[in-house]
Amino acid sequence: MTPFPPPRTLFSRALRLRCPVCGGHPIFLSWFTVCPSCPVCGFRLDRHEPGYWLGSYTINLFATEAAFCAFFATAMVATWPTVPWSSLLAGGLATVALTPVAIFPFTKTLYLAIDLCFRPPAPPDLATPIERGFVAPPTIR
Ligand SMILES: [Zn+2]
Repeated sequence: MTPFPPPRTLFSRALRLRCPVCGGHPIFLSWFTVCPSCPVCGFRLDRHEPGYWLGSYTINLFATEAAFCAFFATAMVATWPTVPWSSLLAGGLATVALTPVAIFPFTKTLYLAIDLCFRPPAPPDLATPIERGFVAPPTIR
């Protein structure tokens, strides 16, 4: 069994939208949909906990607020003293509308990496071969 990767590796894999545990991919079915488990190692990406992704939503919210503050402060300082408030409003609205969509999958994998730093995977976090689709489920006669 390979040793559990250090935090630097977990975050590196997360930023490349790969499974933080093994580096396998793809772990997204679409830009907004995470696979139930890693197709390579079987790690359950939501760790079978209701509301697990609340942490990623929090990261997404904070990052969006930071992007808005950075945009607003930069634009205001650059155009001072004749600040174009209407343009600033439109730019701010575009920032808060587009940033959460653009960073959505990254916040999910980053939250997963943060969680794995504190709670390394345990046997219940691994999907069974049936759940992963490698073995046909038993039929009931
Ligand atoms: Zn994996």
